[in-house]
Amino acid sequence: MDIQQQLAIKESRLGASEREAILSNYFATLNRQKKSFLGYQTNQQVEFSPVLLPFLSLNLLNLGDGFEEGSYRINAKQFERAVLEYYAQLCGFSGPHTQRRYWGYLTAMGSTEGNIYALWNARDFLCGHPVEGYADATVVRHPPVLICSVATHYSVYKASQLVGVNLFHDIGPALGECPINQGNWHQPLGVDERDAVNIDDLYALVEFFMTAGYPVILVLNHGATFSGGSDAIYEILNRLKPLLGRNTPQQRRYWIHVDGALAANFSPYLRSASEPFSVTDEPYEFRHPEVMSLCTSPYKWLGAPWACGVYLMQERYKVGSAARPVYIGSRDSTVSGSRQGVFALYLWERLTSLGKVGLQQLTRFNDTLADYTQSRIESLFHHLDPTGKHLIVMPRPQYSNIVRFTAPDAAVIRKFSLAQNDVMIHGKLQRMCHVVVLSHVTQEAIDALLDSLSHSRAFSLSAQPKNPLTDLSSIRSFYGELPDSHSSKEESFI
Ligand SMILES: *Cc1c(COP(=O)(O)O)cnc(C)c1O
Repeated sequence: MDIQQQLAIKESRLGASEREAILSNYFATLNRQKKSFLGYQTNQQVEFSPVLLPFLSLNLLNLGDGFEEGSYRINAKQFERAVLEYYAQLCGFSGPHTQRRYWGYLTAMGSTEGNIYALWNARDFLCGHPVEGYADATVVRHPPVLICSVATHYSVYKASQLVGVNLFHDIGPALGECPINQGNWHQPLGVDERDAVNIDDLYALVEFFMTAGYPVILVLNHGATFSGGSDAIYEILNRLKPLLGRNTPQQRRYWIHVDGALAANFSPYLRSASEPFSVTDEPYEFRHPEVMSLCTSPYKWLGAPWACGVYLMQERYKVGSAARPVYIGSRDSTVSGSRQGVFALYLWERLTSLGKVGLQQLTRFNDTLADYTQSRIESLFHHLDPTGKHLIVMPRPQYSNIVRFTAPDAAVIRKFSLAQNDVMIHGKLQRMCHVVVLSHVTQEAIDALLDSLSHSRAFSLSAQPKNPLTDLSSIRSFYGELPDSHSSKEESFI
């Protein structure tokens, strides 16, 4: 029977043994897939401690603001605050170096919700609404404009549509000639091969809109989705500071948001072995005092049975919703109304059971295996294609746990769940894929991937982008030259 028919919910009940058979079958399939799951930023090594099981018998909800107890008493807000405090210290929003107070919450979604919240709050702040720190509304001449690079996650674009914030492409043309991309407003704000935004172009765009009287919302990346690369946030904000000026109650000029979905979880542990919470002034440091909001997705790095996110911001800029429904007895200041309390318990349990020492070990483990993966794929590609023209391994950005290389055949992609992306390299769009090294990834899995990649049929035309910018003929001729010494292993990867 077709699987969808088997799963159909019908009038009569499905017997317990039938249900169990269907589910255990499916679980076995997933477990097989998990062994070679290399291509997405989610850690499949989920450690759900038995001490948490009793909580699954409750509908544990954090309703409304996590800093107010509210009337819904079956909640986990004290654990939420403990987890937030950890992330606030890790991400520079709290600690001995700062006087700033933070606000935030654990989201019901991943970083998508953090990005939505950030743009929502940025829009209202820059439109002159009263905020925590500045009680009075102020009149603003122009709506804000969103500036972010081509490496920015798609959820930021979605968030901009949801909350009605214009991108620089939308309002630029009416204001004058585009200061970057040879005057073309329809080109994206570019990045280098490590996905770091071009700082001169960013500066020119910000200058253009500030001169025209438009407040700007900057979304900067710490750990871009495909490369794990980051913008040089510390350097950028130091350079932009004179241009941005100062936000005051009457003058709302800018909003700085950092999307740290993956890297904010662990990069502090790579920076400083002895004190991950101490802020440096390196160019790629993301914990600059001008950062007004930040989001990160703990589930991606730490592993969790569900998506979950952290949103943090400087409290004095908070607009959010000041509504205080009598019904819940606390401020309704979150995007998601009811938030899963078990997320807070789960994160608290993981973080306290690992401690800083365990988190540091996790970081080192990922980093060492990513090094291994990068150098092994580099030497394989060098062997297969000594000219380096066709098989490319992209440089691994600092603090990235991701290795990017020329996309192989569809069968290899399927087997290892590899995500793909088209990347412009030497003026040509090339289809690349990536391996994301997280704690479920073993050296055996990497070696199995290498074995598949060394196969003569691993690189065929099907994985290449169907784009006229790509020179398909050169790939075809290269394929003809591939050594076929591994042809005896042909079945091994299909
Ligand atoms: C994954 C990701 C997001 C969105 O996270 P979700 O959990 O899918 O909501 C946002 N930004 C970046 C950079 C990401 O990698």
